[in-house]
Amino acid sequence: MGTSLFKKILIANRGEIAVRVIRACHELGIQAVAIYSQADISSNHVKFADEAYSLGEKPMSYLSIKKIIRVAKKAEADAIHPGYGFLAENPDFVKACEKEGITFIGPGASAMLTMGNKLLARQTMKAVRVPIVPGTTKAISSLEEAKAEIKKIGFPVLIKPAAGGGGKGMMLVHKWEDFSESFESAQRIARSAFGDDEVYLEKYMEKPRHIEVQVMGDKKGNVVHLFERECSVQRRHQKIIEETPSTFLTLGLRKKMCDTAVRAAKTIGYVGAGTIEFIADKNKNFYFMEMNTRLQVEHPITEWVTGIDLVREQIRVAAGLPLSFKQKDLKQHGHSIECRIYAEDSSNNFIPSPGTITYLEIPEGPFIRNDASIYSGYTVPVHYDPLVAKLSVWALTRSAAINKMKNALSRYKILGIRTTESFLRDLLDDEEFKSGQYDTHLVARFLERKVVKTKYTKAEIYAALIASTIKAYERFSIAPEATSSKTSYWRTVARREGLRDHEL
Ligand code: ADP
Repeated sequence: MGTSLFKKILIANRGEIAVRVIRACHELGIQAVAIYSQADISSNHVKFADEAYSLGEKPMSYLSIKKIIRVAKKAEADAIHPGYGFLAENPDFVKACEKEGITFIGPGASAMLTMGNKLLARQTMKAVRVPIVPGTTKAISSLEEAKAEIKKIGFPVLIKPAAGGGGKGMMLVHKWEDFSESFESAQRIARSAFGDDEVYLEKYMEKPRHIEVQVMGDKKGNVVHLFERECSVQRRHQKIIEETPSTFLTLGLRKKMCDTAVRAAKTIGYVGAGTIEFIADKNKNFYFMEMNTRLQVEHPITEWVTGIDLVREQIRVAAGLPLSFKQKDLKQHGHSIECRIYAEDSSNNFIPSPGTITYLEIPEGPFIRNDASIYSGYTVPVHYDPLVAKLSVWALTRSAAINKMKNALSRYKILGIRTTESFLRDLLDDEEFKSGQYDTHLVARFLERKVVKTKYTKAEIYAALIASTIKAYERFSIAPEATSSKTSYWRTVARREGLRDHEL
């Protein structure tokens, strides 16, 4: 296989996704080249790669096309994997790679251009009768235009930047009196964040589900789907827990949604891994929201249920090989959940909590996967996304997967920084989440429920006191022996008080 694939791949990214791609390269017998900013000099991706090149002092040098291409040429890399974020959806980067004869592991620049602009994407999808969220397919340039559209779709509406991403600049408007101000600020944010002030209108769906479909295409024109991912567990429009299969889909609806995603991808001649995001309403109508023309953060859950290594497949199709499977070979088996663990203080309004990890214990066991780039002694830099780890699990049923995840999270010990681990555990325990009948506002409701609870039983208070004593002990003692010892004094005391092991 080695001869038809690449010899050396440069990974134009950092952190957990860079580590993920390096692993795939090594498994395929391909050398991996890392790049890093000064802030990442001690990162795992730098250690694990076969070669590593500094991009200089600037934390955001991962965005420098020129520098990255220069390094790729110097290292004689024959391909570049962009990961997600940074330059992953930048058509200029694709073109720069092409110009230098370096293979970009991802779609062509034109598919990326079409899907990178949400308006162009909406126009393209509408033309091939893929249902889009009601709203405009052209930029809104005046209040009159907006008024005419709102007359058709009604309030509430979302104002969205055409070049948007990461939820930036999205404005929810409930009444006409507030429209003009929100319109101006959406344009302002769009201009400063994306260098493009085009905004458009979408009907704001009340209580929707965000369900996306993984697609994969090769250079021979084959496109398949790898089923859906349920991504409605979001905080401030950003996903925090993903699962597959989605509890919302019936067999018929799944087929319709997945076939629609394949049709959408075929329309733009899609090559590589991509994701079609849909929003679904309670009447089970679904609408195209956007396409991400790259590997998705939450790709591991798809890998769990399909048994397909998406990064390996990305590399193969970029090298010109046909997809190594057909649609009929793909099945969803069992249930998978991913939790995104952030360096944020969930007890204090999720403020970022960068710093040095003083002690780390990663849960192990069957069907548990940890995608991370951290180690004991590692300092989480302030400059980047505060995602520290993606923990994913697989089990035969949803309830077994939830249990496995809760248990694994409780064994994930990250000391020195605050993380969202316990918040995620509580969320997995929430009745609404467990019921599977939720929508994108689940987390907001859950947080309200948590605040409302002010009365605690004696047992709950004792449990909390014991738990905080143990936390304090772990934090201030030389942790490794103390926290892993099965027979420690603290565990004995806690057991006597009726705490189960996984709560320690
Ligand atoms: P971005 O690309 O900036 O992340 P998306 O278009 O993917 O923005 O939307 C992010 C999230 O915002 C969605 O997952 C959903 O929760 C919410 N959202 C987006 N569009 C709508 C809509 N029309 N109605 C209701 N919620 C929406």
